[in-house]
Amino acid sequence: MEKKTMLYEGKAKKIYATEDPGVVLVAYKDDATAFNGQKKGTILGKGAINNRMSAMLFTLLEKKGVPTHFIEQTSDRESLVKRVEIIPLEVIIRNVAAGSFSKRYGVAEGTVFDLPTFEFSYKNDDLGDPLINESHALAMGLASQVEMDQIRAYAHEVNRVLREFFMEKGIDLIDFKLEFGRWEGRVILADEISPDTCRFWDRATGKKLDKDRFRQDLGNIEEGYREIISRLED
Ligand code: UDP
Repeated sequence: MEKKTMLYEGKAKKIYATEDPGVVLVAYKDDATAFNGQKKGTILGKGAINNRMSAMLFTLLEKKGVPTHFIEQTSDRESLVKRVEIIPLEVIIRNVAAGSFSKRYGVAEGTVFDLPTFEFSYKNDDLGDPLINESHALAMGLASQVEMDQIRAYAHEVNRVLREFFMEKGIDLIDFKLEFGRWEGRVILADEISPDTCRFWDRATGKKLDKDRFRQDLGNIEEGYREIISRLED
């Protein structure tokens, strides 16, 4: 399918129209940003890795009964996906304390939770994606209660599937962010699942294999991305 006009350019991806109005092409970039766009850089090869990992994980999740926007990977850094209306809520599940959770609540990074946590952030760059609760989201008309109930159920299912999948590869899934979209009256999983949107720690060494290498200037950033994809493709 031929790509046409660019519809949208985000921080890490470009979205193009195709001849099918119900399908768009996602092109993953090597550009990286952190801290709400304040830190910018390039991670060589990241676009292709995130494309491949998202394709692999969306395919796995579909098989396990979670509907996603993914259709097919068309090149190293491009995939076709269903055109959805993105629900402006970032959905975050955590198995282990890290990042903003550790900072906000003073809980040491690496503290393992008995049960996964679930939270919404309001997807709004101007406001810095603030934490939001369901009554706020309802009052603002961001999503319906039915949609949020569905999103919560899918997000926990995604966690169960991915946690086990990564565990078998010797990787701890610490936390991750999902985005959902509306498609034909239903809620489906959209956006990407990659080292940009998840925290992955090597089980044996605790080494970080995700965007925290970029956020925290840990070095060997490209190597971290390459290591995680090669483990998955093994
Ligand atoms: N995350 C993301 N996009 C965001 C914020 C967070 O993909 O705009 C991911 C992040 O990579 C991590 C998880 O969501 O895997 C939880 O992030 P956290 O709330 O700890 O925020 P951060 O420390 O990344 O600011």
